[in-house]
Amino acid sequence: MTTPQPRPSVAAMPAYVAGKPPAERPGLVTYKLSSNENPYPPLDGVVEIAAAAAGRVNRYPDAGNTELYEALATNYQVPAEELALSTGAVALIFQLVSAYCGPEDEVVFAWRSFEAYPIAVLAAGATAVKVPVASDGHHDLDAMAAAITERTKVVFVCTPNNPTGTSVTQTELDAFLAKVPEHVLVVVDEAYAEFVRMDDAVDGIATYRSRPNVVVLRTFSKAYGLAGFRVGYAFAPAPIAATLRAMALPFGVNVVAQAAGVASLERKTELLARVDDLVTERVRVVEGARAAGWDVPDAQGNFVWFAFGSADRCAEFAAGADEIGLMVRPYPPEGVRVSIGEAEANTRLIELAGSFP
Ligand code: PMP
Repeated sequence: MTTPQPRPSVAAMPAYVAGKPPAERPGLVTYKLSSNENPYPPLDGVVEIAAAAAGRVNRYPDAGNTELYEALATNYQVPAEELALSTGAVALIFQLVSAYCGPEDEVVFAWRSFEAYPIAVLAAGATAVKVPVASDGHHDLDAMAAAITERTKVVFVCTPNNPTGTSVTQTELDAFLAKVPEHVLVVVDEAYAEFVRMDDAVDGIATYRSRPNVVVLRTFSKAYGLAGFRVGYAFAPAPIAATLRAMALPFGVNVVAQAAGVASLERKTELLARVDDLVTERVRVVEGARAAGWDVPDAQGNFVWFAFGSADRCAEFAAGADEIGLMVRPYPPEGVRVSIGEAEANTRLIELAGSFP
């Protein structure tokens, strides 16, 4: 008997690995700092609204996501036709690459960066062109521009970059975009946009609105604390947004997620306060690690990057974290990414940074 075989590039796709919650330890509270989740529960009242929506799950969701599109359009002051919702920003990444790339095409992105990019490229049968990040974790935008060829269809700019945490500035992004031919789609992945605190920060909305070839990705998974509901969205010029909507799985954003998204957008003040708290904690961790002698890059997301350049050292750091009840995310051999979590978790991380030999 022969089993049908997928295309070779699909057969080569690694499974997307995510961290499991830490094992229960008697006498030790453990913390999951491995998936850049929000340690806070959803915003006030959102769980109750989602629970009420769950009473309607015998029916399909609104296929047009009408209320959530309207809420996003109002919240960001953009036309609804310049938006595309999907089951997490990760689904939009797959939709984008499969809509714009085939086996002849190349996709340029920094490395390390978000691990879904190479998987989405394999799914489309296209070729990944990985441009190493600089030693301080920043995108090397000059090298990325130089890597663009006639075959390039999509470029990802991940800012803040997962896992190194660094952001590009608007000036850097503008200079890069000026070098990119208009047939190339530039995807600015701003999954962590709400946490950015820097001068000359990227204004994703102004950027996509002034160009025909820029898509901006956002998500409810990080700042909004709705990772489990799987809702992400893209800002894009109307024709690109229409393509993304056409590529979405029908009814992909479920009834409960739609309701939670709308309710979350109405709680802006509370959101900003929580994000500010997480940013304060991020600064505490970065300063603590630097005081202990670590050369941590400028962290602009809800996570911090410990660079090693050695798989063994990454494993030792992760094991040291595990011993004190912290689950972190090694990316051997480059480094270990640790999410900003509850204050106690962050304090333990600072202690680990201070005592790690
Ligand atoms: N982009 C980046 C840079 C991310 O780190 C993540 C999540 N880890 C995503 C996109 C996907 O987010 P979502 O949960 O919306 O699929």
